[in-house]
Amino acid sequence: MLPLSETGLFTPRQIDILKKRSIRSIRDLLFYFPRRYVDMTFRFDIGKTRAGDQVTFVGKVRKAEVAYGRKRRLVVAVDYHTIAVQLTFFSAIPYYRKLLTPGVEAAFSGKLDLFRNSLSILHPEVEIMSGDDLVHTGKIVPIYKITDMMRQNYISTKTLRKNIYELLKLYESRIVDPLADYLPSGLQNLSISRALRLIHFPDSMDDVELSKSRLAFDELIIFAVLMFHKREKRMALEKSAALQEKESQWVPAVLNNLPFELTGAQKRAIDRLRFLAHQNHPFGALLQGDVGAGKTLVALLCALEYLEQGIQVAVMAPTGILASQHYKNFINYLSSVPMLQMDLLTGSEKVSAKKEKLERIRRGDTLFAVGTHALIQEGVEFDNLGLVIIDEQHRFGVEQREALRSKGKMPDLLAMSATPIPRSLTLTLYGDLEPLIISEKPPGRQKIETKLFDDKDLPLLYEGIKKYVNQGRQAYIVYPVIEESDKVAWSSVLADFHILEKEVFPGYRLGILHGKLSSDEKERAMEKFKSGQIQILATTTVIEVGVDVPNATVMMIRNAEKFGLSQLHQLRGRVGRGSHQSFCILVHSENVSDEGEQRLAAMVESDDGFYLAQKDFEIRGSGELLSTKQSGISEFKIADLRYHTDLAAKARAIVDENSELRKTIMEVKGWEKLFSKGFILFSN
Ligand code: ADP
Ligand code: MG
Repeated sequence: MLPLSETGLFTPRQIDILKKRSIRSIRDLLFYFPRRYVDMTFRFDIGKTRAGDQVTFVGKVRKAEVAYGRKRRLVVAVDYHTIAVQLTFFSAIPYYRKLLTPGVEAAFSGKLDLFRNSLSILHPEVEIMSGDDLVHTGKIVPIYKITDMMRQNYISTKTLRKNIYELLKLYESRIVDPLADYLPSGLQNLSISRALRLIHFPDSMDDVELSKSRLAFDELIIFAVLMFHKREKRMALEKSAALQEKESQWVPAVLNNLPFELTGAQKRAIDRLRFLAHQNHPFGALLQGDVGAGKTLVALLCALEYLEQGIQVAVMAPTGILASQHYKNFINYLSSVPMLQMDLLTGSEKVSAKKEKLERIRRGDTLFAVGTHALIQEGVEFDNLGLVIIDEQHRFGVEQREALRSKGKMPDLLAMSATPIPRSLTLTLYGDLEPLIISEKPPGRQKIETKLFDDKDLPLLYEGIKKYVNQGRQAYIVYPVIEESDKVAWSSVLADFHILEKEVFPGYRLGILHGKLSSDEKERAMEKFKSGQIQILATTTVIEVGVDVPNATVMMIRNAEKFGLSQLHQLRGRVGRGSHQSFCILVHSENVSDEGEQRLAAMVESDDGFYLAQKDFEIRGSGELLSTKQSGISEFKIADLRYHTDLAAKARAIVDENSELRKTIMEVKGWEKLFSKGFILFSN
């Protein structure tokens, strides 16, 4: 690592300040990318610019005055060529007043408004320009994020610009490009040093895009090596609780007892899992299948052989309701095999009961442990945990997944999810897990009819619900919140429940379920709904995942605009589980954002979870998907998998095929941590 002190460009005090922003080395500074650019080539064309447009321009302050109206504000008149623009600031008035004195030139950016026939911008971003910057006119100028501390120590955008320029000049020839021979078409002539130059000092905005592709490629390569490495490490391990090669009695017993046939996709997944289970190194698999595809049964059939051979299996689900439902389902499925000790651990059990369960699990008497996060708490120890199953894995963080695994000595891992991640990304993000896909649903399922309504239609919709309930079906009504609040105007389950009971559905059997009930109460409500005692269940998203009541065929979602797309799809997955035609009624309020409208339209258009995941990703971007929580990695600095999907696939293929490249990268000290920091090497 070449420290910044070596360059002589910063004072020791400045070096300390930069350290606070994790800029320690020359590499760090080169990878401190501009936050945005001011295009000094820009000509503000009155004919083309409209109110509402985002503009950036360099102008000269004519006067600045504090005005007193309903609210104190600073009004700054700026000239841009012959055009006058008025800037208004409501906050930080003293600061801007000091900054924007007459004669000062600065770059301003913000949303242009047309107010009383003059152009104005409310709270523009301001970047003071002087000397050198103005020499930059006719160019694109990088603007860096400057903290107050940096500013106080004379590290301005200008300082950074100048120093990065110097750095590039001094060190460019020493930057080694280990990926030079592996660049995909389109990037072939773009060395890493040129990419770094272009991202700081582009000649055009196209240059910025191009250099970002190259930098993204580098990130994706390192990430792919990381995934390759994880996979390889696993292959090198020996399982501690290996399965013996012997014919299973239990698998056929359970299969024969099923009231239906497995789907082809289920069979393929199970075959593959059983193959993996018999390898002598631990496997990691990600089973993806749309809601209702029958993943639970696949998991159980995978678990059977372990249980049969006396090896412990743990299943972790994100909610207590789901865990106890699994527990009961498993008991049913297992009715045709010899009794085995199973325990449910949800954290809501009494102290003494919990103690006994933990004791049984530790001794290995309990073979099958089903539970929630309670399973990963301290004090939970296993005797010989051989398989870990994570249901609805997108609801857990990688740390939690790993926490459960670490309760055993290298157990196998089966993670399951209803495709919160588009297919194209699975391999990139979960490169260390083998992807298994259940591509079909059990036969006889009807397409869930999905319709959009607004609040005004409620009376009509209630009549519709009665019709189906009278025919013996059951319904969910889902609310976005438990209680009313001042902050949002959403309908709440508590407030609405009384109305439903007294006015809307008198004479019907209603139930209520939400997160503030005790686990006993939740349990009882679910039980009653499952057995049909409750006909209409008013609830919140506590039923979002996994809950399986085939006779429930109507789902009404209030304030549907408020939910995310995968959440809506998960919710909708609670119906359409039996043979009766099912309905999903999305009720929105009057205030729907554009984004909300797009989501609702997508829901009506498709009930394919893979498609919706892709859509969601396009609407929302990758941020949430790529958070540390899900993938266990820090976010990419440059790569955006919405746009770099192909690049990611290429990077993965290149890494898989080239052991030389992997070696080169892995030989670099601390390479694992470099992927979001910037991977460049310097020669001496
Ligand atoms: P998910 O994949 O969403 O977790 P589940 O495992 O909860 O789905 O299964 C949904 C329902 O489908 C359950 O009631 C289950 O018993 C049923 N099921 C599973 N496999 C089949 C099959 N091959 N044929 C018919 N029904 C099935
Ligand atoms: Mg499930």
